[in-house]
Amino acid sequence: MRDLVGGDTKVDRVSVDAGFTCPNGHRCFFCDSSGSSARTPKWPTLREQILHNISFKKSRLRLRQREQLKHKFIIHFQSFTNTNATLQELKSIYDQTIGIDDNIIGITISTRSDNLSLEKLQLIDSYRTRFPYVAIELGVQSIHNQSLQFLGRGETHEDFLKVNQLLKQFPHLDVVAHLMLGIWIEDEEKMLATAKSMQHFNVKGVKLHFLSVLKDTELAKMYRMRTRDENSKRYPGLELLSSLQKSVEISASFISALPPQMVLHRVAGHGNLREVIFPKWLPIFAADLPRLIQEHLLHS
Ligand code: SF4
Repeated sequence: MRDLVGGDTKVDRVSVDAGFTCPNGHRCFFCDSSGSSARTPKWPTLREQILHNISFKKSRLRLRQREQLKHKFIIHFQSFTNTNATLQELKSIYDQTIGIDDNIIGITISTRSDNLSLEKLQLIDSYRTRFPYVAIELGVQSIHNQSLQFLGRGETHEDFLKVNQLLKQFPHLDVVAHLMLGIWIEDEEKMLATAKSMQHFNVKGVKLHFLSVLKDTELAKMYRMRTRDENSKRYPGLELLSSLQKSVEISASFISALPPQMVLHRVAGHGNLREVIFPKWLPIFAADLPRLIQEHLLHS
């Protein structure tokens, strides 16, 4: 990003809810009703939402910074599955990012492997004539089908493999994979296998998330129903995440197992902290996680 805009520029992501839904009818078990969204207030039009969110980011930077940094924005289509519409509808939605603020330098589209096609990728790629930065964020989570099933993802690793083949035709699109740590049925070996496998795919960056249990999700019901014995026998991922120290250690091991050229966009994502039921330490230590992981990496 620094190569793109220079060191004297701050780039902020501006998350928007463009009114999409998800093709996964029952919702992934960990996902709350906001669809992993930025929870921005509802606006009459997407354009107004973008302008409001940009102006909010500008005022926040003004408060924090004394020196005058240049300020650029990437519009992040975040909530739900942002390719879940016809090509014509997608074009009319994505087009609303054009011509409204000269400081918008890119767009990122969050989606799922089973909701992409060659035509949709061609459309997204076409925005590179408008913006220097265009990216897709893919909810990959794990390479293990059992885990995807456990999470109720409604898609398989083969869906990701198919889209990975298509992505070879779009070498200039940035592709960021969301990967999950602490899927209950995964042990450390399985988690690290996902990290190591990334070298084989057209993925340039990753965002790491802990599998947090949020209120009013299917996972919250599963969490309430599990017994203590089952917990230790069947759910190594759950047990691992119950310890802050172990969570930091597995994050560091996961990062070390990624290919060295991989860009780390986020090291410790989580859901809305006010809604987190588990891990219990998460609402208290969320802000410290990047530092704790970095320290662990430096000293291990
Ligand atoms: S695809 Fe994403 S937004 Fe949709 S239900 Fe699953 S996690 Fe939530």
